[in-house]
Amino acid sequence: MSSSIVSIATLGAPRIGPRRELKAALESFWAGKIDEAALREAAAGLRAANWARQKGLGITEIPSNDFSLYDHVLDTSAMLGAVPSAYDWSGGPVPLATYFAMARGSQGHTHHDGCTHAHAGSGQGVPALEMTKWFDTNYHYMVPEFRRGQDFTNASTKAVDELREAAALGYATRPVLLGPVSFLRLGKAKNDDFDPLSLLPGLLPVYTDVLRRLAASGARWVQMDEPCLSLDLPDAALQALRDAYGMFARVVPQLNVMLTSYFGGLGDNAATALSLPVAGLHLDLVRAPDQLEPILSRAPRGLVLSLGVIDGRNVWRSDLPAILDRIEPVLSKRGTDHVQVAASCSLLHVPSDVELETGLDPDLKSWLAFAAQKMDELTILGRALGEGRDAVRDELAAAAGVIAARRASPKVNDAAVQRRADAVTGDMARRRSAFVQRRDLQREHFGLPAFPTTTIGSFPQTAEVRKARSAHGKGQMSDAEYDGFLREATAQTVRWQEEIGLDVLVHGEFERNDMVQYFGEQLAGFAFTKAGWVQSYGSRCVRPPIIFGDVSRPAPMTVEWWRYAQSHTERPMKGMLTGPVTILNWSFVRDDLPRAAVCRQIALAVRDEVADLEVAGARMIQIDEAALREGLPLRRSDWQHYLDWAVECFRLTASGVADATQIHTHMCYSEFNDIIAAIGAMDADVISIETSRSKMELLDAFTSYRYPNEIGPGVYDIHSPRIPDVAEMTDLLQRARAKLGDDQIWVNPDCGLKTRGWAEVRPALVNMVEAARQTRAALSA
Ligand code: GLN
Ligand code: ZN
Repeated sequence: MSSSIVSIATLGAPRIGPRRELKAALESFWAGKIDEAALREAAAGLRAANWARQKGLGITEIPSNDFSLYDHVLDTSAMLGAVPSAYDWSGGPVPLATYFAMARGSQGHTHHDGCTHAHAGSGQGVPALEMTKWFDTNYHYMVPEFRRGQDFTNASTKAVDELREAAALGYATRPVLLGPVSFLRLGKAKNDDFDPLSLLPGLLPVYTDVLRRLAASGARWVQMDEPCLSLDLPDAALQALRDAYGMFARVVPQLNVMLTSYFGGLGDNAATALSLPVAGLHLDLVRAPDQLEPILSRAPRGLVLSLGVIDGRNVWRSDLPAILDRIEPVLSKRGTDHVQVAASCSLLHVPSDVELETGLDPDLKSWLAFAAQKMDELTILGRALGEGRDAVRDELAAAAGVIAARRASPKVNDAAVQRRADAVTGDMARRRSAFVQRRDLQREHFGLPAFPTTTIGSFPQTAEVRKARSAHGKGQMSDAEYDGFLREATAQTVRWQEEIGLDVLVHGEFERNDMVQYFGEQLAGFAFTKAGWVQSYGSRCVRPPIIFGDVSRPAPMTVEWWRYAQSHTERPMKGMLTGPVTILNWSFVRDDLPRAAVCRQIALAVRDEVADLEVAGARMIQIDEAALREGLPLRRSDWQHYLDWAVECFRLTASGVADATQIHTHMCYSEFNDIIAAIGAMDADVISIETSRSKMELLDAFTSYRYPNEIGPGVYDIHSPRIPDVAEMTDLLQRARAKLGDDQIWVNPDCGLKTRGWAEVRPALVNMVEAARQTRAALSA
């Protein structure tokens, strides 16, 4: 085989830095400890390191403008001058202060950890833009805010600056821009009802201006991200794509556009994507491997196809020979200059470098590929394709060896778990009796008043609690001391809840670092990294657990804490668990089993915990499914399948108990309309949900669908430091009563209280209990 160069692309590198250098710089800057120049210098250092690494490995399509000080969608808003008037910007380049005000609010902010939705700031000053999840990732972007008829102007030179910065260092790069159609669809019309796509004509001249400047500064290609291509799109969006890319081709013909779709297949958007006058099209062949054949048969001969074969969303080393088997024929058919090999999406969504892990099991470590290793894999593929497989024979053999070793490893395979999962029957996912019978037994057993009061589980994780945890983690506090500290915090919290008259109590979750990690650390089949940080938003990073093997629960996880808390009160103490779907959705999941199968294993493990809590005497057990909704597939047509197995897993966890044992669940979101039937099918005896911020609007879902079981629509918005007064909460309860039966309603906050301080929580809960009392009194009057 004659050797030639095959283009390889990463689509984007992690921004936060292998040791979270960007986080450190940002936080120092926000704290006033370093100035803007120092922040910019730190950022430039991270960019240079990413470029150097990629160049060193032989990546040919090195991205620029993939870096961001906070968020690339926010960068795009800045580039287009899409700055809402509240931020007081009067044109010209968007200053850093304005940029961070949009990101974080102008006087600090409160973001609620652990919830699926994060929220803008509160208090005085201008609140931050709204923030929400980037497609089905755990990355959050700042939602662009539009007004009718608004103008756009070029208000940031970032893309051009970073292209030049790279060039000055000797790197020819391919700038990355978020495409105009995805940008508009990710934003929303503020206090108005119009389709943001109607703003496209005003947007395009700014884009073409930027493209022209990029071309003038030496760019030959630009990567235009249009991840909306993986969604169900209305005709208007398809037309917008034709308009936008038609205009770019006409006005800036000298610049080649690599149009990227990712996170899924093109599906019924394929015809449109293939008809656009672009030079290249990127396909996510990890999420949607089956689209390769149909696209190949329809792609115009001159189109460069970028094959996204290295998984940008997961952490496993790839089966490189198997990938080559699939893509070699594509190369021979289309020729090396019409194919690129790429990551499936930007490597932003995986941690930096496995080599930084010091404590991992060596076998597991050898199976993992973070961004640095994925870049390696791309290079190996490029060489195999350009020079022939022999040129990288050892690397390919090693990759195949890893796959084989992982498949056969006793650390991955637990025959007992596999047998048990195979033996699950439908009965195991059904409570013994229907809800109405259970309800009567439970009412008799608990004798609770109407509108019973409770909380969602956690109480403030104060500085003191965090300090103790960190001291214990560093070995500065002994196990016994730490345990004593946690017991005291728990006992006090239980006594206080009883004092203010809450009906159903919780232990407060002081012992938990995180609602998923706490369980993952006690389950077999999970591993945790030391440096496996992934950006969640801005400077915030998470280290998702890695589910590498069959999951089981070697020993009870929460029973002792429950027992201890219950010993301080006669009132019902809820057992508190995180549900299987949430544990799955907030982890990196093994890729050698279907997600549904992994979830079923977790469900069985948590089911064991439910059983042990019941044996210990718990009669109320809450199984949180905070992340059930966010696991919904991007395409509607895939929803039902997901909901079916997700609900089944929840039920498998919950259904082993006696009828008189009350199962609670909690979900912190406000969009229920489209999944309400699935929520009903979970058949929890009681569900608590978020409703206070939408003033119970979300209960609209319950107008056409009569939710059968009991429900606590949150009356206290815990995302804000505001202390709600009694009248406000009785009012919300009245609104709930208009939609639900009096005997269905529980009274509780929106979510856990861990991010709040006691100074707010105390009066707020006292008011909440009083609101329930007054509502009860009105009922009997
Ligand atoms: N029980 C958890 C808590 O109160 C639930 C948190 C969540 O749903 N995000 O913190
Ligand atoms: Zn919640």
